[in-house]
Amino acid sequence: MDMALRDQSLMLGAPALQALVGELDTFGWRARERGQHYAAQGRVGAFGVEGRSIHATVRGSDVYEVAWEWDGEQWYPDCSCPVGPDCKHAYALACSVLAHSRTYAGFEHPRLATLLPAVPRLLLAGE
Ligand SMILES: [Zn+2]
Repeated sequence: MDMALRDQSLMLGAPALQALVGELDTFGWRARERGQHYAAQGRVGAFGVEGRSIHATVRGSDVYEVAWEWDGEQWYPDCSCPVGPDCKHAYALACSVLAHSRTYAGFEHPRLATLLPAVPRLLLAGE
């Protein structure tokens, strides 16, 4: 298990996390489906946090640089792939961040059960 996933400094406040859940609703169904698979398959690398942005690499047909930036009210995804920013890679990173926050910070939201069906099992698998 990647130690960065346990980094407490990554913890985001509940308002930011709630907003991230809402932001995922704006993604198309295909990006959601593939993004969930990517997160569950461990294609999201360790996240880094700089100020209000979270970044990680996500392994798809290539390795892409993905980021989510929070301005205090809204999230903005970014991805280096040709399809981004509302792509499966950005979705996968958000899923991993939410799963991490649920597992290690007790973040809960009624939507998490359907949003992250496979991710928490993956995060706990190495324990
Ligand atoms: Zn992408």
